[in-house]
Amino acid sequence: MPTYIVLLGPPGVGKGTQAEIIAKTTGLPHISSGDLFRENIKNATKLGEMAQSFMNKGELVPDELTIAMIRERLSRPDCSAGALLDGYPRTTVQARALDKLLTEFGGKVNHVPYIAASKATLTERLSGRWTCKAQGHIFHVKYNPPKKAGICDMDGSKLYQREDDKVETVSRRIKVYFDQTAPLITFYRQRGSLSEIDGDRSIEQVTADLLAVLGN
Ligand SMILES: [Zn+2]
Repeated sequence: MPTYIVLLGPPGVGKGTQAEIIAKTTGLPHISSGDLFRENIKNATKLGEMAQSFMNKGELVPDELTIAMIRERLSRPDCSAGALLDGYPRTTVQARALDKLLTEFGGKVNHVPYIAASKATLTERLSGRWTCKAQGHIFHVKYNPPKKAGICDMDGSKLYQREDDKVETVSRRIKVYFDQTAPLITFYRQRGSLSEIDGDRSIEQVTADLLAVLGN
């Protein structure tokens, strides 16, 4: 029976990095819904073109279309032993659609690790980023500070904050994530498939907990 993992975690918790490590360790392909979306659009697949037409009209891509992309991806040979899903599902409606889809593959959602972190930690991590104007070198006021405040170590150019890294934008993104995901977390917790992992620690410690939860 294939194994399906749904990895949950707010922006700034290092979910993408952990997904890569887990994929490598377990041998399950990492399926990022964002990447899958971009791939379909870039390759102008039928699903990609349909998605694009909604986006061109400024409309949300319907759930049926997203699940069709996931179905197509999961039916590829590299997913015969299962997959690690990242970015999907986002809502309980999508979670139910995923359950239905996985029965087609003779499987179910086996594990839902949720890498949790406080809003304060996430805001600090995401809003501390400063970018170099000349070449895009990235610094962090706490984790990777430049030698001289506001100046790039590599080329001496000025550092600035991208719109996405400003504290107001970051706070809004985090709030949207928690508002949107709270019902999904409750959904998986009630089923007993959720494992909460403390994301306020080093990458290595989080990886160790994740692998323990997954039985590796
Ligand atoms: Zn620079």
